[in-house]
Amino acid sequence: MTQCVFSGSPLRLFNSLSRQIEEFVPMDPAQARIYSCGPTVYNYAHIGNLRAYVFTDTLRRTLNWKGLAVKHVINITDVGHLTSDQDEGEDKMEMASKTMERDIWQIADHFTRAFKDDLAQLNVWHPTLWSTATDHIQEMIAFGQTLEKAGVTYELETGLYFDTSRVANYGALASASLAGQAEGARVERIEGKRNPSDFAIWRRSPAIGKRQMEWLSPWGPGAPGWHLECSVMSLKYLGAPFDIHTGGIDHREIHHCNEIAQNQACTGRDHPGANLWMHNNFLIDRSGKMSKSKGEFATLTSLIRRGLHPLAFRLLCLSTHYRSELEFSVEILAGQLARLKRLVGAVAALQLKVENASWKRIPREVVYSSGASLSYPRQVLEASLPPEGDRIITAFDRELAEDLMTPRLLPLLDETLNHPRLSPEVKLRLVASMDLVLGLKLLDVHRSDLSLRPENASLTENEVLASLTQRQEARKNKEFTIADQIRQQLHAAGIELMDGQEPAWEWRPFLL
Ligand SMILES: [Zn+2]
Repeated sequence: MTQCVFSGSPLRLFNSLSRQIEEFVPMDPAQARIYSCGPTVYNYAHIGNLRAYVFTDTLRRTLNWKGLAVKHVINITDVGHLTSDQDEGEDKMEMASKTMERDIWQIADHFTRAFKDDLAQLNVWHPTLWSTATDHIQEMIAFGQTLEKAGVTYELETGLYFDTSRVANYGALASASLAGQAEGARVERIEGKRNPSDFAIWRRSPAIGKRQMEWLSPWGPGAPGWHLECSVMSLKYLGAPFDIHTGGIDHREIHHCNEIAQNQACTGRDHPGANLWMHNNFLIDRSGKMSKSKGEFATLTSLIRRGLHPLAFRLLCLSTHYRSELEFSVEILAGQLARLKRLVGAVAALQLKVENASWKRIPREVVYSSGASLSYPRQVLEASLPPEGDRIITAFDRELAEDLMTPRLLPLLDETLNHPRLSPEVKLRLVASMDLVLGLKLLDVHRSDLSLRPENASLTENEVLASLTQRQEARKNKEFTIADQIRQQLHAAGIELMDGQEPAWEWRPFLL
């Protein structure tokens, strides 16, 4: 490994393939190469999907923290993903196009933009490269031909299929046994499939009912299977093998097993393609309030409408280890929003005391935009720290290096802010460095930025201000009953008064 920001702890990451935490050694000592499965752009992203990108972003920031540049690719799936991951059901994009009565390319474009916007709001760095499936159709066809030559495919009426019995250890990544997959109740079967786990490389268009998206291929007009694109684009842009492949845990059972099988057959090297396969766990909404079946769909926008800031969702993600289930409810999220406001308030108070520190003039955009620049943490931290500050940042590095143990980083942030002996300048340097990994924008957002007006709030900003003036007047005249009544009325309308603070009020999130 190259020189680290800290001589600190070696980075250790959980590999789903070996089911063990392993020391991470990048193939290129100067740069780590990561591929993350991206969204299928047929709808807005569910917050459960967005969790995957906060995780990947934390991984990427951690690699930077450890002194490595990162080449990161995320794909956009705009073709081939069926309603079931196992080649059954309808194409999600074609289906969305029918339901929304919009052109399929418009749908892809709209939801791609919406997804990128969600990431920006969560302060997730853009990847080095976005790669879109439909820009790689010819390469996918060529890849299919290579697989055909390798003798791992067979043709059916419906298209070209991958024979999963032809590669060693198919499904080693999955926790479920292959027998289990075979028994699974599937609504639809593909006639002639040799093994239940076999999957489509190319799906031939049906004779009747032309698809909106289809291309000519040696196997007839049609569209590529979903699993193909990730093998093609990851190996094209990152080489074979590359360092880390990430995705949600739902990809571990089928999609990533299929990618690995394709990579093995294509390279002929019996290598899974990536050295490390990392998966984040699910987001669980036990209240069921925001499930699709109740007509609510938990998107980032639906949270913002309630007055819940996206960065509070980021903090929520960090508060649970990425391999554990993340408990979600709007109440829990509102708790994280309150916590974030406290943190931002404390950092703002420090900033007032440390106006002229020279390191504050280093533009943070250098780090935020490229992700590859390490000048900021170096310059901020390499100036000597008192032993207590050194102890805290060493502990931070140790917890982070142990498979990204983010829930244990947050108490260290609290400890820094509440420390009785550290100077404001040292505290701020520590917080600035920690936030490079946490990505909470602690030095950049104001408490009032976090206070979003819920969509169904009954008052306008001007009405709130008028009430505040009235209340101030009442207090001046010692009419405390009236002042109290105004406070209660505002409270009932979702307004929190904060006497003696700037700003003097904020919106409370609407929880139901
Ligand atoms: Zn993928």
